[in-house]
Amino acid sequence: MEDNLHEWCLLEYCHMATFIRPYNLYFTNLSVTAEILFKNSEILKETNYLTENIINMNIPMDKICLLDPASNQVLEPADGDTFEYFLFGGILGDDPPRDRTAELRRLGFPTRNLGAKQMTTDTAVHVTKRIVDDKVSINQIPCIDFPEIKISKTESVIMPFRYIAIPDIHKSTLQTTNNEMKQNIVPLLPSGMFDLLKKDGDMAFEF
Ligand code: SAM
Repeated sequence: MEDNLHEWCLLEYCHMATFIRPYNLYFTNLSVTAEILFKNSEILKETNYLTENIINMNIPMDKICLLDPASNQVLEPADGDTFEYFLFGGILGDDPPRDRTAELRRLGFPTRNLGAKQMTTDTAVHVTKRIVDDKVSINQIPCIDFPEIKISKTESVIMPFRYIAIPDIHKSTLQTTNNEMKQNIVPLLPSGMFDLLKKDGDMAFEF
């Protein structure tokens, strides 16, 4: 877990609690300041938030699967029966990725990957849930890479991550050249992320 919890991380964590039952989510290795933020959040206070390190929690290591982009094994539905816990680096994505998941890898957990592209942490948790809980294989989960998000009429930001793709409810289906109907898709972002991107974009132009 990062020492400083960026607003971006908090939105991702709140988002996780919308598709995973909060009491099934454990946030470990929190700083004392982060612990206070969790306590004061309506959604996050329902999760398990601990300053304890995962290593000191007396869970057998072979029951914990580290989601690691560098793993040579893809996560499969059957892994839901093998493992009891799925561990994610509570770190902000970076471009190019600095492989900070290595800090957890060094501890010796079994690992699985979710494809070669870096996902945001909430996306990685969501995709893992779809695979191990809903028993959907990874190639059946629609994804969108490096989406461009328009934050005003003239500005947009490219998010250098892979997201789950959902139909765009504001746009109708597209007709392709071979007369197939194709749905417009957008990335599944945490609630509040669009406003945060807009705010961060505005700040970049303030002197
Ligand atoms: N940039 C970070 C790095 O270099 O390790 C990755 C940060 S990613 C935003 C946060 C966490 O999501 C990772 O530590 C990992 O647990 C999980 N994750 C993201 N993409 C993944 C992928 N393609 N396969 C497996 N895990 C992934």
